[in-house]
Amino acid sequence: MTHRFLCTACGKCCYGQIPLTVQDAWVHAKRFPLAMVWSPVREGSKDFNSVARFGTVVAMPKAKNLAVLIVPTAYLPPTFACPELTADNLCAIQLQKPARCRTMPFYPYREEQFQAELLAPRPGWLCDISAAAPIVFADKQIVERDDFEFELQALQEQHAIILRYAEYMFKYTPQLRESLAKVAAKPKAGQVVTSLSSFLTAIRHPDTKSIAAQQLPLLQHYADQTAGQSDLHDFHRNYLQWVKEMRFLVDRV
Ligand code: SF4
Ligand code: SF4
Repeated sequence: MTHRFLCTACGKCCYGQIPLTVQDAWVHAKRFPLAMVWSPVREGSKDFNSVARFGTVVAMPKAKNLAVLIVPTAYLPPTFACPELTADNLCAIQLQKPARCRTMPFYPYREEQFQAELLAPRPGWLCDISAAAPIVFADKQIVERDDFEFELQALQEQHAIILRYAEYMFKYTPQLRESLAKVAAKPKAGQVVTSLSSFLTAIRHPDTKSIAAQQLPLLQHYADQTAGQSDLHDFHRNYLQWVKEMRFLVDRV
């Protein structure tokens, strides 16, 4: 069976959070307000193995084990456009855009045989899946696969760093395990969000001060943009807290 897809550059998928590779997080630290997003998947789910391959597995004494993705993320509210989306819905950094944007709509945290499911446009998206669009998925495989392979390889190469971060966070944030369990128990998948500063500290990034200095004005900008909006309270609170953390790293590291 074959599946067709063509991006018509409508820009509708350039809103809200953008998952990044670790390398893309550093490259784009001057553009995006960054956070670490933890997404748990319960054992038995179809994505459990692929999530475990790039994330971590958390034993749950009284429940099913969890596989957890831990992803550096451009942390934007769902209604906020990517800061690089132009007024005519084009990408202002087309040649440098993150691996995640290049691979869209395919998603390396899902087994390749299930990737065709991702080609169905979400409500409002103007992706072309008509007979006029090129075949992008055939015989349970992605046809043009350079970007997909590139992202897969990046995720494999960064896995040790992600595991080191997970170990650090479980050691110093005992409530994290419980938060993940709560999120995983919900009928609709949810997230736990931690700060980029915790990641920089855990992995002892040599450019911590410079990355924190890039993040500081961005986080302050988004704190201002989300102020007074009750539906964005969590985003606002996080941005404000992370401004303090980044200021600490700029001043003290
Ligand atoms: S970087 Fe470009 S492609 Fe990626 S979300 Fe932003 S505007 Fe869209
Ligand atoms: S929603 Fe579909 S058509 Fe629109 S920019 Fe994203 S991939 Fe392209």
